[in-house]
Amino acid sequence: MTDLIILNRNLRLHDNPAMHFGSLRSNYLVIYLYDETYWRENGKSLRQLKFSNDCLAELNNELKKYDSKVNIFEGTFDDLKIWIKKNFNDFFIHINHCTDIKYFRDGFSKFTDSFLGKINVYNDFGLQLNNFDRDSWSRNWNKIMDSQILENPKKSKLKLDTKLLNFSSFSNKVKNSLVNLDNIQKGGSSQAHTLLESFLSERCKDYRVKMSSPIQSEQSCSRLSPHFTFGSISIREVYQILNKYYPKSENKSDLYSFKKRLYWHCHFIQKLHTEPELEYYSMHRMCDQLRQTHDDEVIDKWINGETGFPFLDACMKYLHRYGWINFRMRAMIMSFASYNLWQPWQKTSPLLAQLFTDYEPGIHISQVQMQSGVTGINLPRIYSVSKQSADQDPNAIWIKKILPQLREADPKLIHSSELSDMYIPQIIDLKSSARDARERVWSIRKSEEFKKEAAAVYIKHGSRKKRNFRS
Ligand SMILES: Cc1cc2nc3c(=O)[nH]c(=O)nc-3n(C[C@H](O)[C@H](O)[C@H](O)COP(=O)(O)OP(=O)(O)OC[C@H]3O[C@@H](n4cnc5c(N)ncnc54)[C@H](O)[C@@H]3O)c2cc1C
Repeated sequence: MTDLIILNRNLRLHDNPAMHFGSLRSNYLVIYLYDETYWRENGKSLRQLKFSNDCLAELNNELKKYDSKVNIFEGTFDDLKIWIKKNFNDFFIHINHCTDIKYFRDGFSKFTDSFLGKINVYNDFGLQLNNFDRDSWSRNWNKIMDSQILENPKKSKLKLDTKLLNFSSFSNKVKNSLVNLDNIQKGGSSQAHTLLESFLSERCKDYRVKMSSPIQSEQSCSRLSPHFTFGSISIREVYQILNKYYPKSENKSDLYSFKKRLYWHCHFIQKLHTEPELEYYSMHRMCDQLRQTHDDEVIDKWINGETGFPFLDACMKYLHRYGWINFRMRAMIMSFASYNLWQPWQKTSPLLAQLFTDYEPGIHISQVQMQSGVTGINLPRIYSVSKQSADQDPNAIWIKKILPQLREADPKLIHSSELSDMYIPQIIDLKSSARDARERVWSIRKSEEFKKEAAAVYIKHGSRKKRNFRS
């Protein structure tokens, strides 16, 4: 029997269920599904493909030690199904579950359904696929995190010419579309382990405080997010290494905050897994009545950092350049689009996602909805761009580096965006737009109907973890 190990976003050797179990008979083939259309779908982008390819390159190299390699199948899940049925009689498929956008989900579920009895779909990370119960979710998450790490695959004895592309031919084929992306993070398991080690041993000092600053967070956050997204390191492994460090660390409260976020990662993805419709509809459906029209021109200015608010524009330009920005700034960017500009999150969310190398639909869509006040279970929070500007970059040093045309400007005027002809005009009035947004959001929240539906949303999605853990 030939074991077919199909990879999508779990690009690592260690603690990889499909890879581990698929290799037990030592007669396996590793296949990566490259579907060009997927990379153009809702929120996906070339910077993410670049990171994913870095991970694949390392995985391909590592697999040589196991007498194996990554074979690239170009096409859809449907094409892969046909190819497998045509080329193999005696086979078994091993694939990890992955919570992703509709395009992927539809292809994935048709694929897995068509091989019933001949396929194992493994759980990945702390997600709970079957018999999911919100009340015992966090207990189960801890159990998953404490369970044994899976070993690397066994060597393969299979000698088979599949006629599929090898990684280097594939990499050559796509390289022309992946230019000008040198500033974004590099992928691969060795990068992930280096980041983890430097974070746990040094960089985590004052993580809790520094994470709010776009300047300090670059160094003081773990920067593991794209590695989790593309699976170049397993969350369980990170969790267990963290637990070993914890007793001897002098930064226990920082490490505790980091540990909570590992939980949040899975908690948020679970929401999209439970209710895939969240990709298009607000968690609290009544909130979809709030913003029914959109303005392409305004959205264009927002996503390109041309709003006339220097701090916001600097954040956007930084994100375009590096493919990452810290949580606080992501929240502010989103709050500005949804409250101040009053644009529907369904229009703005995919554009923002495309800029994130770490785009993880389950986290992104839940966070976008939280920062737009449409979940019904979180209190709406409108970030003030001028306050964040003054708090995070009091002397406007960072802003001036990104927007050199403001080199001579007084930092106070930069924070209040009162720069007359030194800078582009503001596209809205900050204060009145925030006030209008607050009134509109609270007007629907008051009704009994709203509260009733919010209670149902909590039962489905709310975190039952007491103290500090976010819903
Ligand atoms: C509008 C918006 C969109 C976001 N989109 C994404 C996204 O597409 N992908 C993504 O990974 N994160 C997203 N986040 C959450 C957060 O901003 C990033 O996880 C974090 O900035 C990544 O940097 P880091 O790995 O250095 O984080 P660290 O602070 O070092 O945290 C470690 C890990 O914990 C998880 N984590 C941290 N914060 C959160 C959070 N609030 N919710 C859920 N998990 C969290 C991530 O997996 C992260 O890698 C979004 C936040 C907002 C407000």
